[in-house]
Amino acid sequence: MACVFCCIVERSAPADIVFEDNEVIVFKDIQPKAPLHILLVPKEHIATVNDLGTQHTAVMGKLFLVAKQLAEQWSIAGQGYRLTINVGRGGGQIIDHIHMHLLSGWRR
Ligand code: AMP
Ligand code: ZN
Repeated sequence: MACVFCCIVERSAPADIVFEDNEVIVFKDIQPKAPLHILLVPKEHIATVNDLGTQHTAVMGKLFLVAKQLAEQWSIAGQGYRLTINVGRGGGQIIDHIHMHLLSGWRR
């Protein structure tokens, strides 16, 4: 069966998409763990950080830039947010397609 995040990229699975360009897609997490919880995903299927090569430098850098841009757009840059990439089962990774979590909106 195809990877669920590849299916979202191909529009064969539904998602609440908030940003997309030629390399990256961003959508809301289906089971949010914070008031704002989105996933930033390279469109290319790369299973985990362990599978990264030098050819992925640009797209992984772009994940951070898109996170920063969305944080500014949603006015959470000042209050702060958490960026997380889980790696492997021991690191809490369930979906084997690299994704960066952006979590924010907790009351402090
Ligand atoms: P991880 O544990 O880092 O692999 O995170 C996977 C995340 O993907 C979890 O927070 C899930 O709630 C989320 N997730 C799983 N399936 C979907 C989906 N179809 N659409 C949006 N988020 C999903
Ligand atoms: Zn995939």
